[in-house]
Amino acid sequence: MSDSRIEAAVRDRDGKAWCLFIDRDGVINTRIMDGYVRSWEEFDFEPGALEAIASLSSWAPRVVIVTNQQGIGKGVMTMAQLAAIHDRMLESITAAGGRIDEVRFCPHLARVGCDCRKPNPGMALSYLAAHDELDQSLSVMVGDTDSDMEMARRLALATGGAISVRIDTTEDLSADATFASLSEFAGAVRSVRGGDRL
Ligand SMILES: [Mg+2]
Ligand SMILES: [Zn+2]
Repeated sequence: MSDSRIEAAVRDRDGKAWCLFIDRDGVINTRIMDGYVRSWEEFDFEPGALEAIASLSSWAPRVVIVTNQQGIGKGVMTMAQLAAIHDRMLESITAAGGRIDEVRFCPHLARVGCDCRKPNPGMALSYLAAHDELDQSLSVMVGDTDSDMEMARRLALATGGAISVRIDTTEDLSADATFASLSEFAGAVRSVRGGDRL
C-alpha cells in the first residue's frame, strides 16, 4: 500500500541528490510550550522519532535539522548548553541507526530580523548554497508550526520547488502533506519505496 500524499514526492526524488530539512521542537522532540529545552534532561524524543529518523536518513541523501533557538538570544540558555543537547541528541540518533548531516540553529531574537530565523529560509538556503551537488528544488521541509510551513513556501519560491510536510494532528491544507507524527511520515515514505522495489 502506498500513500498518495507523498507518492509523487518519493518518485521525483528517486536516485537524486537532495536535502531533507527537519524542524526540531515538536517534530523530533516534545515541544515545551512557552519555554525552551535547556538541558538534556528536558529533551524527550517524540514517540517513534528515532526509528523515523533512521528510516528517513536511508531515503534522503542529506538530512539537516533547522531549529529556531531564540532562548540563546534571550539569555535563558547558552550556546554551550545547546551544543551539549545536540551532542546527546546526535549520539542517540546514531545509536538508533540514523544520520543527521548537520544541525543548523538560529540563536537570534525575533526582533533582530535576521535571515536565519524561520519563517525566513536562510538556514536551508545557506546549507544548499554550500552544497551545490544538491538539487535545491527537490528540498523537503518538515515542521510542526505555521512558521515552518511559511519557511517552506519561501524556500520553494527561492528554489523553484521545495515541498512542505506538516506534522500535526489536524490536516493543514496549505501544506503539501500532513502527518500526525514524524513516525507516520517515515512510514508513508517507506510504504511508497517498498512498493517501488516489488
Ligand atoms: Mg517546531
Ligand atoms: Zn538568526
